[in-house]
Amino acid sequence: MGQIRLTIHHLYAGMMNLYGDRGNVIAIKKRAEWRGIPVDVLDVGLGENIRPTSSADLFLFGGGQDREQALLASDLSGTKGADLRAIVEDGGVVLGVCGGYQLMGHYYETPEGEKLPGVGVFDMHTRPRGGDEARLIGNVLARVRAPEDGDVVREIVGFENHGGRTELGEAEPLAGVLVGYGNNGSDGTEGARRLNAYGTYLHGSLLPKNPWLTDQLLLNALRRVDEKIELEPLDDAAELAAFSSVAGRVSGRARG
Ligand code: GLN
Repeated sequence: MGQIRLTIHHLYAGMMNLYGDRGNVIAIKKRAEWRGIPVDVLDVGLGENIRPTSSADLFLFGGGQDREQALLASDLSGTKGADLRAIVEDGGVVLGVCGGYQLMGHYYETPEGEKLPGVGVFDMHTRPRGGDEARLIGNVLARVRAPEDGDVVREIVGFENHGGRTELGEAEPLAGVLVGYGNNGSDGTEGARRLNAYGTYLHGSLLPKNPWLTDQLLLNALRRVDEKIELEPLDDAAELAAFSSVAGRVSGRARG
């Protein structure tokens, strides 16, 4: 087998990059390169098809305001959305954040009542906040049961700012909220997961402060090419200090 390469497909990079979600691309790219794995980053814009490669692929879909979501919803409703669904059903690794996550469900309803069609990766939909409901804003600490690790429970931290309330149908939540709002501020769930597709409301950006999740996504992508590949440990002191700083502040208790 030749040198494994990773291609990060950054969906709507120029439009869906709210609150620095591009940091997720940088985190995955650097953690792969620090292990000697060459990485290409492809921006997949309006009217451009998603083109999986013959090596390892990972697809990122960042957050964006209602205006950007409306601009790209029709672009997603054709073959592009069908291709993304097929990639997920085939076990492809996808991370959708906030506005990108919302459009991975059946629909995102705007405050004006327009239902923007989603890709339907997750059995869920998102409704607008009611007149008496505030935007869901703030730091989030959530607990993830990572199936790759059996029953190991891990935590993630991030920042949320969304008006939409996501209601899960059969979709499996990604995490349980410990502090913050998550999907809708009422059912205690955060995000969604299906096979190797992850959806979350956590900006931050999410991945730099949650190195275990970054490596999980990276490993899931690489193992689709080489099922025996392992990732050598990195010195995560800075990443874990960033995680602990936010987790400690959010949970009100100092973390070592
Ligand atoms: N426009 C969506 C909402 O407000 C998503 C916002 C975002 O991506 N932060 O719910």
